[in-house]
Amino acid sequence: MDYALIIYIISFICLSGLTVFLRINAAKIKGWFGEKNIVNRLKQLDKDKYETLNDILLESENGNTSQIDHLVISVYGIFVIETKNYKGWIFGNEKSDKWTQVIYNQRNYFRNPIKQNWSHIYMLKSLLREYRDLPYFPVVVFAGSAILKEIVSKVPVIYDSELIDFIENYSDKTCMSIENVHKICSFIQNASIDDKKKRKEHIENIHSTIVERQIKIQNLICPRCNGKLKLREGRTGKFYGCSNYPKCRFTMPYRNNL
Ligand SMILES: [Zn+2]
Repeated sequence: MDYALIIYIISFICLSGLTVFLRINAAKIKGWFGEKNIVNRLKQLDKDKYETLNDILLESENGNTSQIDHLVISVYGIFVIETKNYKGWIFGNEKSDKWTQVIYNQRNYFRNPIKQNWSHIYMLKSLLREYRDLPYFPVVVFAGSAILKEIVSKVPVIYDSELIDFIENYSDKTCMSIENVHKICSFIQNASIDDKKKRKEHIENIHSTIVERQIKIQNLICPRCNGKLKLREGRTGKFYGCSNYPKCRFTMPYRNNL
């Protein structure tokens, strides 16, 4: 066998492997885009004044975990960013427990992101007890194609495109040096849980509330593994199954009004 043929066969195998991988993970990759988008935006911030941390998982003394999407530690204070990558129209009040997503004439409810963000700040404050006087700036950011229809809130709720301007606006009062910013960043990073198993547990316990589950199902995303839900034909009729079958065996009955 000559070398050209061997190289041809190897590249063919690699390419098919890649294609299969992309196909299986299509839904997951899409989900990352909202996050990646914000990560890239935050890179624009002046490194002499701001440092960014993404996807921080903190555990409190009583064992509760809190996942923070993005943190910007700056010489002006700490920006705590909660991201939602949703479609449709969004309605919400800072005081209510649930917010509403309206999509295809259906209403879905999700946890009030402002309350989620307050719990993150509470956790950060107890972690950063030494730095008691730091100002915290909570902000909820909608990425994706969501339209903010009616939001009643003193805490800013903005689109991802507005985020950098929002952060750079808070630059009247310097409260610490950039050295302290780096110090706090590495402190938080060290406190963040890297353990894959714990992270998985957190995702299963906290994020897979009934509400999040509803929204995922509505968007034909598997609530168990974030794979795509596909319409299948079984012996007893049509049903939805996960595209990651047999790794994930999630199924649900077929409904016309989905
Ligand atoms: Zn699945």
